Amino acid sequence: MRKAVLVSLDAFFDADFQYLAPDGGLSRMIREGAVCRQVKTVFPALTYPAHATLITGCDPDQTLIGQNQPFQPDTPPGARRWYWERKHIAVPTLFDAVREAGGKSCSILWPVGCKNPAVRWCFPEIHLLPGENLVVKTLTFGSPVFILASEARYGFLRQGIKEPGLSNYAAAIAAHTIRKKQPDLTAVHLIDLDEMRHHHGTFSPEAVEAIHRNENRLAAIRQAIEQTPGMEDALLIAVSDHGQSDISITVDLTAGLKKLGLSDDFGVQSNGESAYFFAQREDADPAKAIALLQKHLAKNGIQRLYSRQELDRLHAAPGVAFACEAADQVVFSDGLDENKREKATHGFGPGHSAENCLFAVWGRGVRAGIELPEMPMRDVAPTIAGLMGLSLPSAAGKDHSADILG
Ligand SMILES: [Zn+2]
Repeated sequence: MRKAVLVSLDAFFDADFQYLAPDGGLSRMIREGAVCRQVKTVFPALTYPAHATLITGCDPDQTLIGQNQPFQPDTPPGARRWYWERKHIAVPTLFDAVREAGGKSCSILWPVGCKNPAVRWCFPEIHLLPGENLVVKTLTFGSPVFILASEARYGFLRQGIKEPGLSNYAAAIAAHTIRKKQPDLTAVHLIDLDEMRHHHGTFSPEAVEAIHRNENRLAAIRQAIEQTPGMEDALLIAVSDHGQSDISITVDLTAGLKKLGLSDDFGVQSNGESAYFFAQREDADPAKAIALLQKHLAKNGIQRLYSRQELDRLHAAPGVAFACEAADQVVFSDGLDENKREKATHGFGPGHSAENCLFAVWGRGVRAGIELPEMPMRDVAPTIAGLMGLSLPSAAGKDHSADILG
């Protein structure tokens, strides 16, 4: 098996190539390696569904990760559980394939990656629910010895979970683990850019600075690969999960349903720039609800509605009765305080201007300067498996590794 380091640049999309520094970490990867600038994200364009697809090669209808969180209408937003644990993904992952081949993996802040028996060194991505303790939860959801050693060495780099400290920390642990342990697969998730976009806007100066910081982190990880005996053959792979677009109007769909007399029949889960509707009663009629909402699109900030048949064609998660996508500048309220309002977000559907994600590969034998045509996100994992010489037969996507290695 060939080693790989997989770096996820959360919220990077094709409009960002213009901001890359000519000699930055990503520019160099692209110049000396292969790139696809049009990896079409999943529906809805959210971090957890996208990362589950990136690591399995299956769409949300098979991973069963259709949102960041399960639908919990009766729980206040701040107390809702997320799909934190590996067990929530219904199909095998690249980590499983590495373990089956006798290898060891490291995952750092990788979404839906906690409590993963296939991962030797896990620093978990979690959030705290009311009454929970950060230390206890982190140690329980990840690998305690690895976490404590990481904290002792690099704890000074972060202030809680604030960015850019957290991503600096994650990249430092990744580089150190590469040098000390040479994992077969190292997967690290950098949230810096996503956070800056939410808070300051899609193309804010803060977001552009985060792109440059991510380039520096990629360069530092590449240096660790190049300087470590045993990593000579390793591949450096950069991916992303969705872009973002600016928002300025918050729409409460629950109130909208109430006005139309539909609130007893359907519950709403906001995906940011789209929303899911779940049937609350057995006789709830999605066709009737769609027809009613169709007459009141503008009032509810809706650009388009998706029937269950359309969701099936998009490989969206099961259980959702129907869905809608937000109009330009609109975000669907998730019940959070107005003062937590963001400047940009995601969660949109296919065809959106921020749907084109990144897949870049650099390493020995990779054809330099290769530009791959557009591909669905489900193609990424089987291609990584192909590059590493692993078997991932459960993947629904295509393996493009032969085009990359020539
Ligand atoms: Zn994300």
